[in-house]
Amino acid sequence: MNIILVGAQGSGKGTQAARLAQALGIRHVASGDLFRKAVEEQTELGLQAKTYLDRGDLVPDDITIAMILSRIQQPDCAAGVLLDGFPRNLIQAEALDKGLAEMGRVLDCTVYLNVPREVLLHRLSGRYICRAHQHVYNIATKPPKVPGICDLDGSELYQRPDDKGEAVQRRLEIFFRETILLLDYYKRQEKLVEVNGNQSIEQVHKDLVEGVLGQKRRTARDQKE
Ligand code: AMP
Repeated sequence: MNIILVGAQGSGKGTQAARLAQALGIRHVASGDLFRKAVEEQTELGLQAKTYLDRGDLVPDDITIAMILSRIQQPDCAAGVLLDGFPRNLIQAEALDKGLAEMGRVLDCTVYLNVPREVLLHRLSGRYICRAHQHVYNIATKPPKVPGICDLDGSELYQRPDDKGEAVQRRLEIFFRETILLLDYYKRQEKLVEVNGNQSIEQVHKDLVEGVLGQKRRTARDQKE
């Protein structure tokens, strides 16, 4: 099963993607995590991507597409992938369709985690992440027990440079301008499922599992007819 989870920064996409991938028994592949790891390890890819990440801009499509297509061909992705953060525009979406077809695979569905813009801004400006495992906290809604320290692994919490000030606004702007066009693209392919992301973590998880499985049942039925 190959699925895409689309959601703005701060929509809860990272948390939900990890849980959903586990529930479905597929690999969670997050483009932002792959880039951040490359930057930290100072690989060739990391050096190319760093300035874009720091500014909150998108990394050029050719670099991003090559990175994702190579990642999903690894053996641990053979049973399926849940893509998180990719594709982010139509060029990437078309390249993904083509790449999957060349691998003899298809996209099952794209789920849109819908959260209003004001809620996103509020969530993002309070977001802190732990250095060791990227566990997510929020000063307003989910503070750590000890300020500045991760409850789960004791590592230091930090604010991502692109969650601060202008970079947050910029990233949301890019999302609403470009990524949203993807929804039409997948709607036309009859692969779009929408879930209300402004609910409890539990409820969103349930709706996501139901949404994906419901889409799978519909596709199976259509193929029979
Ligand atoms: P994220 O963690 O998904 O917010 O991604 C962090 C940063 O990685 C983004 O602001 C971009 O600079 C870069 N990035 C992640 N995914 C993509 C993508 N699909 N296309 C271009 N740049 C990306």
